[in-house]
Amino acid sequence: MGKEHYLGIDVGGSTIVYGVITAEGLLIKEKSSSTNPERGASVILNEILRTCEALIEEDSSIVGVGMGLPGTVDPQRGIARDCPNLHWLNIDVLAPFRTGLRVPVYLENDVRCMALAEHTFGAARGTENAICIALGTGIGSGIFVRGDLLRGTSGAAGEVGHMTLIPGGGEQCSCRNSGCWETLASASAIIRNARLGMERAGRMGIPTLLKDPLDGKKVTHAALKGDSIALAVFEEAGKYLGIGLANLVNLFNPECIVIGGGMSLAGDLLFSPAKNEMLKRGMPNPLQDVRIVSAELGCSAGVIGAALLCLLGTIK
Ligand SMILES: [Zn+2]
Repeated sequence: MGKEHYLGIDVGGSTIVYGVITAEGLLIKEKSSSTNPERGASVILNEILRTCEALIEEDSSIVGVGMGLPGTVDPQRGIARDCPNLHWLNIDVLAPFRTGLRVPVYLENDVRCMALAEHTFGAARGTENAICIALGTGIGSGIFVRGDLLRGTSGAAGEVGHMTLIPGGGEQCSCRNSGCWETLASASAIIRNARLGMERAGRMGIPTLLKDPLDGKKVTHAALKGDSIALAVFEEAGKYLGIGLANLVNLFNPECIVIGGGMSLAGDLLFSPAKNEMLKRGMPNPLQDVRIVSAELGCSAGVIGAALLCLLGTIK
């Protein structure tokens, strides 16, 4: 038992990461390749299958494969329902793996994989009721209720980034709604608002450290150097982050909310205004119970969580 290994695959819009973990969550092998989504689903899936075969050939202790995809998936049926970054719509992902591999194969949304890793080995370990949020280009989550990942009717539970915070207005979202949480508090929102601020500063001759091409790191850097425009952008995004957190605290009464993803590296620039807003809006009792903590596993969480699907699959 103790010698079993699990293979996780984290498929992103630009990179596919493969990782082999032990039952204790130790990442013992990692490799990656470019996704190049324009190749189409069947070419990419065939390449992933060949890589799995080679890795299993090299390591006979691998007893299962788990895959995380960026989008809506049906874990039960093994189907990618809608993965916009990959341009995959209703693709039967697991069929070739189920016939091509001798070990069981599992599928899950990539943020839910990250959440599984943080819940099992990271910042939410030992908790029964927790929410793990990935704050990146968008906002996703994995929600744990009494220790189990909440999957919903078809595996889509946890899409917290698409709760509407501004009805009848706000920015257009990738989900075709507008005014969603992720249009207000994600890296995309921070970069968009920083650009607007930079352009306004340019017109008015106000000095700013913000320069194109902007990304989340550059806006963070400018804010840490005291740039007033970048600081205002974080203040606003943090406020909206806190509104969403208060909603989640009221809805789920979690023991902890773990925040990871690239934009979480901005730390207190975002978390201070977020916590203030959350404390203003949350209900007193659930607020007393919750801790807001940073993710611990970094960018390996996705691949570790994908591999963990095998472990959970064999337990239940
Ligand atoms: Zn949305």
